[in-house]
Amino acid sequence: MGRKRKAYSINIRDEVIRLYKSKRSLKQIEIVVFQNWYDSKNGCCEYCGLKSEESLILFYKYPVSTRGGRRGKRLELDRINPAIKNYGEDINNLALSCYWCNNAKTNYFTYEEFKVIGDKIKEIQQYRINKINSQDRLTKSIEANNL
Ligand SMILES: [Zn+2]
Repeated sequence: MGRKRKAYSINIRDEVIRLYKSKRSLKQIEIVVFQNWYDSKNGCCEYCGLKSEESLILFYKYPVSTRGGRRGKRLELDRINPAIKNYGEDINNLALSCYWCNNAKTNYFTYEEFKVIGDKIKEIQQYRINKINSQDRLTKSIEANNL
């Protein structure tokens, strides 16, 4: 039996390539270095811990929050120090971030400050994900039992 959630699963290799190609200046970094950097992040938003597949779930559930569907499907790259404009200049200046954290952090909060805020965002994101998942389980149960 195939999983209904197939659209939500992500291929890590595709995800790395997508992120790598999302910023031209990343070409200055070898993709293997970028891949290692990505692996060290465990595929999670560094601020709230959201995974890319969870981002997709929230994207579909809260479409009005995604700038007309242009943001939020996947994790994004945030510059820790926004004064460094070149993404390829220093890989340690990159943070893996969900759209919601990246959008809220802007250039105002520092990485350390936003980590504090991210802890609270995490609670809310996990609450929403759990709610969506339990609704899905209920729907499946109703369907399976022809209720
Ligand atoms: Zn986040």
